[in-house]
Amino acid sequence: MTSPAAAQVNALLASYPDFPQPGILFRDLNPVFADSAAFRAIIDDIAGHFRGRFDAVAGIEARGFLLAAAIGYSADAAVLAVRKGGKLPGAVLAEEYELEYGTARLELEIGQLAPGSRVLVVDDVLATGGTIAATSRLIERAGYELAGIGVVLELGELAGRARLGDAGLHTIVAL
Ligand code: AMP
Repeated sequence: MTSPAAAQVNALLASYPDFPQPGILFRDLNPVFADSAAFRAIIDDIAGHFRGRFDAVAGIEARGFLLAAAIGYSADAAVLAVRKGGKLPGAVLAEEYELEYGTARLELEIGQLAPGSRVLVVDDVLATGGTIAATSRLIERAGYELAGIGVVLELGELAGRARLGDAGLHTIVAL
């Protein structure tokens, strides 16, 4: 059965061939975020799926921030920002990883939560899984427990799920 959130995503998702480079079919979720009922549906879906199982939610720059802020507010949970390299001050942990297009580096400030805090990781799209796998390593290296992973859209042909082990992945729509 299609969930209310999945129906909204399927109705509003936009796709752009050859963006940001030839061969990439870019999936744009901004129309979902721009519709208040759809945005509420995706936040309620992810927050509801993991209800009671997380103390904090980590959003991955940049679209993951939108999800993490709303889920954190909805669940009365703390919010962590996992940022691209070179943007965070102080003591940070870093992970390098490969993207569907190019390579990247993600960072997390240390000492923001109590050791053992349960952290839910969220992002808009799961493609090859490199971004979320790197974020999961940051969460665990920081001394937290990975409570689960929530994404709006999973691109199944890129097999990102296989890189995430048994981390408890919840996706609203899989293509
Ligand atoms: P990956 O590490 O390959 O799973 O890539 C995930 C990140 O890159 C997510 O933050 C997505 O926003 C973005 N991304 C990768 N591929 C796509 C795509 N085909 N359409 C939209 N976003 C993508």
